[in-house]
Order: sequence, then C-alpha cells, then structure tokens
Amino acid sequence: MSPARLSSRLFSPALPGFDEAAALVTSCAAKVVRLHTGQRSSGIERVRLNQAIGRVLAEPLLADAEQPPFARSTRDGFACRAAEASTHRPLSVAGTTRAGQASSGPLPRGAAWEIMTGAPIPSGADAVIMLEHTIESGAPAEESGAASARAIRLMPSRTIRKGENIVGRGAQAHKGDKLLPPGSLIGAAQIALAASCGSNSLPVFLRPRVAILSTGDELVPISSTPGPSQIRNSSSAMLAAMVTAAGADPWILPIARDTAESLDAALARARAADLLLITGGVSAGKFDLVEPALIRAGARFHFTGVRIQPGKPLVFAEFRRGSTNPAQNESRTKYCFGLPGNPVSSAVTFLLFAAPLIAALAGRRNFGPRFALAHLAEDVKTKPGLTRFLPATCTFAGSEPSVALVPWQGSGDLAAMARANCFLAVPEDAHRLRPGTTVRILLP
Ligand code: AMP
Ligand code: MG
Repeated sequence: MSPARLSSRLFSPALPGFDEAAALVTSCAAKVVRLHTGQRSSGIERVRLNQAIGRVLAEPLLADAEQPPFARSTRDGFACRAAEASTHRPLSVAGTTRAGQASSGPLPRGAAWEIMTGAPIPSGADAVIMLEHTIESGAPAEESGAASARAIRLMPSRTIRKGENIVGRGAQAHKGDKLLPPGSLIGAAQIALAASCGSNSLPVFLRPRVAILSTGDELVPISSTPGPSQIRNSSSAMLAAMVTAAGADPWILPIARDTAESLDAALARARAADLLLITGGVSAGKFDLVEPALIRAGARFHFTGVRIQPGKPLVFAEFRRGSTNPAQNESRTKYCFGLPGNPVSSAVTFLLFAAPLIAALAGRRNFGPRFALAHLAEDVKTKPGLTRFLPATCTFAGSEPSVALVPWQGSGDLAAMARANCFLAVPEDAHRLRPGTTVRILLP
C-alpha cells in the first residue's frame, strides 16, 4: 500500500495480509531511519559505558590504534620458524616472553622461544607451536653448549604452518578504521570493543518517548480491586516493559474511558510523544471509539485491520502537522498504533509491527521482527485465511529448536502467554502442519 492509499476516513477495503502490512510498516521505519542519519547533535547524548547497554550508537566507533597493537601469540607454547619446527628436530629454548613483557628476540637459528598467550612474538619467529603439541627433549649439545639447556620439538604427529597461532599487528583493524556504524545496537561485545579503543563513554541517540494509552470502561488501575465486571489494566504495564525492551522510554497515560470526550482529551495529551500506542477500542463494537477519535485528531490511516489472528483489528495511522516543506513534513510525521485490547493480541501486534518502528525511532538500522526457524513437535490443525501467531514454547535442548503450542483459552489468556516463550507462526494458507515441519517462530 502506498501512502497514496492513506485514508482520512473510516474505510474497510480488503484487509492487507501479514506480509503486505509488515512491508508497509517497514517502509515507514526506513524513512524514520533516514531521518536519523541526517540528525545533528540535538538528538544525541553521551552516556558512560556502563550505561550504554541497549542504547544505539549515534556516531561511528573508530579504532584508536592498530588492533592488535603488536603481533601476538594466541597460545601458550613456543614461537619458532615453521620450516625449522616442521623437521621435528629439537629446537633449543632461547628465551621466554610473558604477556605484558616487551617484544623480544631476535630468535636465533634452530631455536624456539617460550611464549604465553597475549605476549608479543619475538622477531624472527613466524609461528607458535601449542605447548600441548611439543615434546621436551635434551638440547642439541652443539647448539646449546650446555647439557642442562632446555629444548623442545614438535610432536611427530603434528604439523605447523607459517602464521599459525599468531595474530599480526593490525590484523583485526587499522588505526582510524570504522569499527561500528551509527545505528548499531550496543551490547556487551560493542562495549568491549569501545573499551579496547579507550572510550569511557559513547554518543547515543536519545531514546524516543512512547505514549501508552489503554482504553476501556471496564479497566481499573493495577492497585485497585476490580468490581464484579471490571478487570485490571494489565496491558499498560506489559507494553511499558516491551517498549523498554525495544529501546524507548514508556509513558503510561491514565486509562481513557469509552467516550469521545475522554479519548479526545487523552489523544491531545499523548501526541506529545514520539509514537502513540493505544490499546482497546479498535474492534467493531458500538463502544469501540478509537478510530473516530483518531479521525477527529487528524490521523490518516495506513490500515485498519490485518489478516492475522490474534490482532486482526490492528490500526496503523499517522499524524502530520502542516508544513509546505516536504522534508519538514517527514520529520513531523508521528505514527500511531491502535492495538486490539486483548492482551495476547496487543503483545503479538506489538512484536510484529510496533517494536520494529520503535527500534527505527531509536536509531537502529536493523529493525525487523525477530523470527527464527524451529521443528514442530506436534500436529497442528488450523483454518486458512489468516496468518496465526499462537503462544508456544520453544526448547533449545536438542540438536534443533523444537516448538510446541501452549494450550490457551483465546487472546485474553494471560496465563497461557506467560507460560509461552514465543509465538508459532502458522501460514495463511495452511490447513494442517505435521510434526517435524520446519516452522517460523516469533521471538519476544
Ligand atoms: P477491546 O479491544 O476494547 O474490545 O477489548 C478486548 C478485550 O481486551 C476485552 O475483554 C477487554 O476487557 C480486554 N482489555 C482491553 N484493554 C485491556 C487492558 N489494558 N488490560 C487488560 N485487558 C484489556
Ligand atoms: Mg474496549
């Protein structure tokens, strides 16, 4: 669906399938990422390395020096000339270098040099024999001149090639190399890399703020005791956790009631956020008033439903604030999801559509939903027509991931979802999936 099909009115064309809806959200996310690329320091802050986990790098990380800074041994063993060691004749041990000691050598002809992991290779050596591949033997008298001198030789069953167990100076990176591009998600490995370059802090994109607006006359806050026909608002807390995991700051708004006034007031407030998540009120019921409220607020719809289950009534819309400059218009676009109220529907549609857009808003280059492949452990009978995402458990114990459904009572079944660790994706055209089939799973 192109933006030309954006509609400012309620409409019910044939619903897009999952792939079509996902492609549309992806194209919006790609626009958001392009905006980030052009962003200046206003959208950037510096955080200390120990605060950087889960943040998104805003500037390239450059190598401050050659990596490694010297040719180093990757093993405890003996530096040697591979050609000499390959004769399997004894090599007298000419010296020892520990990690942290200055580079040593030169290595005399017919000799080996005892070396520890991480130590600089003595000049003249071109390989390191692992300690476990050597035999200690008496030194050849004519070379060592001392009967007690140590000598080693390569085990007869072993071979050694030039360069073995040595990482050359600059083999991993040269000074000034771009080690990580902006848009990289910062995890433990990226923190280690920054630390190795002497960075105590990193420039990261500001976290986007995501408004969470749960709607429904039956909802009460978590700390309240629900009346006979009320339920606690569990979805705001769940979505706040999901928003945090996706790299944004959640902003939970007070519950909105199923009235035009309550929704209008809440929407007016929520639009201060970078992205708006509404839950509930998007189905076909008489009191599902979110879509009309979005229209009054000036939203235009990308879609008002998707051929998926759970989550079919999902709404994806945008607000634009008037400007004749298209570039400015782009940066003023705000996206909004109307997630179906049932908690499992909210969770599935969040993972499929909202999480990628949030990741893009956070500045990430890779923002798709997380799918993996697994083997189906049971027979699954289904009805075609909708792509289904069913709560499931994937076990990683065997040689291949194996997935089985969690019994559930429909998309309000929070307990079933809490026992699951993924969702089994059932293709739209499937009638039955047999045990052993390779299937896709959606990961949280
Ligand atoms: P709706 O989409 O508004 O028709 O809601 C569908 C179902 O989800 C209803 O049973 C609601 O009570 C339930 N529901 C809606 N919002 C929430 C929420 N924030 N927390 C828990 N359940 C909800
Ligand atoms: Mg409702």
